[in-house]
Amino acid sequence: MKKIAVIGAGTMGNGIAHVFAQKGFQVHIIDTQKVALDKAIATIEKNLDRQINKGIINSEDKINALQRITTFTSIELGVIDVDLAVEAATENSAIKKSIFQLLDQSAKPECILATNTSSIPIAQLAQVTKRPGKVIGMHFMNPVPVMKLVEIINGVETSAATTQSIVKLTNAIDKIPCVVKDAPGFIANRILMPMINEAIYAFSEGISDAATIDQIMKLGMAHPMGPLQLADYIGLDVCKNILDIMYDGFNNEKYAPCPLLVEMVKDGKLGVKSGAGFYNY
Ligand code: NAD
Repeated sequence: MKKIAVIGAGTMGNGIAHVFAQKGFQVHIIDTQKVALDKAIATIEKNLDRQINKGIINSEDKINALQRITTFTSIELGVIDVDLAVEAATENSAIKKSIFQLLDQSAKPECILATNTSSIPIAQLAQVTKRPGKVIGMHFMNPVPVMKLVEIINGVETSAATTQSIVKLTNAIDKIPCVVKDAPGFIANRILMPMINEAIYAFSEGISDAATIDQIMKLGMAHPMGPLQLADYIGLDVCKNILDIMYDGFNNEKYAPCPLLVEMVKDGKLGVKSGAGFYNY
């Protein structure tokens, strides 16, 4: 694989594009919003500078990485000659399905179509294409240039050859692949979100304050960040959305979002991005 398209230039898209460009791949970043593309390039520049300051790369590496990136506002034009498309657009099943239809029509037949979805079943996206064997989940973690894990999700129809290619590619960009089956929340969120939800229950019952709950999990379990602070960083709307999908997908009450989480999202308290969540920012 030499040329990669990343669809969606938001938080995850710019990180994914950064990593592939830094590792020598030609990268096409595609977003419907020109302003999102400009912001993505500015963010990638800033994050490459941060890597220079830490001694991870040098200034020549930065110039080379930026030169490997081209931006597009059209999926049809951006994916014509790519070997892999990684979809990292807004977490909405209708949006992702329409993107997968376009990718299937526009990309060459051998191109693998990957999605960075946190919670939408891979099979749902594979179904709208004529190449379900070449559709796979490639779930990067935030911030992408720093986090080592890529959760690789096989849909029911994903071929062994597709999985092998993506595992090999993940190793080539210095990340660690962990392969799982398609199920609501996959593994990372299936385990993380109930923990966050339980921390919110404990907080709402007044068992302790937010800082103490987080401190207990940091000191007691060696977590680098407590669950309430992590929820603020992920976005409380995103946490609620993933819990809803697991609740529906498993038809099991244990995944129902805590009423306090539902209320905070309704009040626009979304965590870091809105300036307030369990903490003020
Ligand atoms: P974001 O809102 O920051 O960015 C989404 C981008 O997609 C926006 O720039 C938007 O303009 C673009 N977009 C929307 N519709 C489009 C279309 N039809 N064609 C092209 N671009 C389109 O979102 P994000 O946080 O980067 O999340 C992207 C994906 O990654 C989601 O599926 C999310 O669940 C997943 N994810 C997010 C995180 C996280 O911590 N933020 C972690 C893992 C996975």
